[in-house]
Amino acid sequence: MEQTLKQLSVADEVLTKRPLIISGPCSAETEEQVIETATRLAKTGKVDVLRAGIWKPRTRPGSFEGVGTKGLGWLAQAKKITGLPIAIEVATGKQVEDALHFDVDILWIGARTTVNPFSVQEVADALRGAKVPVLIKNPINPDLELWTGAVERVAKAGIKNIGLIHRGFSSYGNTEYRNAPMWHLAIEMKRRNPGMLIINDPSHICGNRIMLQDVAQKAIDLDFDGIMIESHIDPDNAWSDAKQQITPEKLLELLNGIKWRHETTNEKEFVTALEKLREQINQIDDELMQLLSQRMKIADKIGEYKKDNNITILQTNRWNELLERAFKKGEACGLSKEFITKYYDAVHMESINHQNKIMNS
Ligand code: PEP
Ligand code: MN
Repeated sequence: MEQTLKQLSVADEVLTKRPLIISGPCSAETEEQVIETATRLAKTGKVDVLRAGIWKPRTRPGSFEGVGTKGLGWLAQAKKITGLPIAIEVATGKQVEDALHFDVDILWIGARTTVNPFSVQEVADALRGAKVPVLIKNPINPDLELWTGAVERVAKAGIKNIGLIHRGFSSYGNTEYRNAPMWHLAIEMKRRNPGMLIINDPSHICGNRIMLQDVAQKAIDLDFDGIMIESHIDPDNAWSDAKQQITPEKLLELLNGIKWRHETTNEKEFVTALEKLREQINQIDDELMQLLSQRMKIADKIGEYKKDNNITILQTNRWNELLERAFKKGEACGLSKEFITKYYDAVHMESINHQNKIMNS
């Protein structure tokens, strides 16, 4: 807090805007694409920072891995034309050096970097002595300690202006999201870091265009400081993340469609606390559903086995044994016998129906 208002750099100042809107392509592809995107974003009058990926961490080799350092010149040009400060992702010490050399205004650490303390430390070491603000995305796995560790490493390198980007978490199995938001984790991170900027990245949470509006709205309802959304002049033909990008004009529509809330602090705190608990319940319900589905798949396999060996579906001994075991476990977990009976009846019936289908197919 030694920084007085006078000492705030342009980048520090822009990050104080509320709501803070960061937008731009997933990847810089060509000079024309960068400049046209920036010009059309600036025209919306709502975008505060231009983002673009220069080096892209791709899951599989062989796909487009970013244009590299030459893209920094294009971004500098776009900034000159539009006046928009620029933000890019950095994942190595060399990338930090290049970014600082080209006067990039804001850097962010990507989700695939936050997971790796070696990489975060390398980035932090390269940042030593720099004045640039750094935004840190959550790690791809739902681990607040890793996210916190990254914040600490960057802070220890002397970076004063650190912000957070919530981009959702990778989870096993298909969910409606590309990266499950697990809002309660972002809310907890916010609670742990009072006053620290936290924005939401609906693009990487959704992985598609359809849900962007809802996720952006939710972030605003949960009192995030802003959003980062990917935009592209020709989304369908983007070289990365084509499914989730929208044109600058669609971004304006999306922003105009958001209901910006003005609750009192008390209301906000109440909503946040309730939301956090509800999100935990949603998360657990999703996991239960996945587990039940896995259970039924195993029941299907047993059905096939029984069919091949001509055994009846209902094995009374096994059923009694299962219930006895469940009562004991249930009691230890604080679940009533009545509930356990109903629950097991329902699960058992569903299993029998699954096996019935298989045995009679
Ligand atoms: C990106 O912002 O384009 C990106 C690679 O995101 P993430 O680190 O969230 O995967
Ligand atoms: Mn992307």
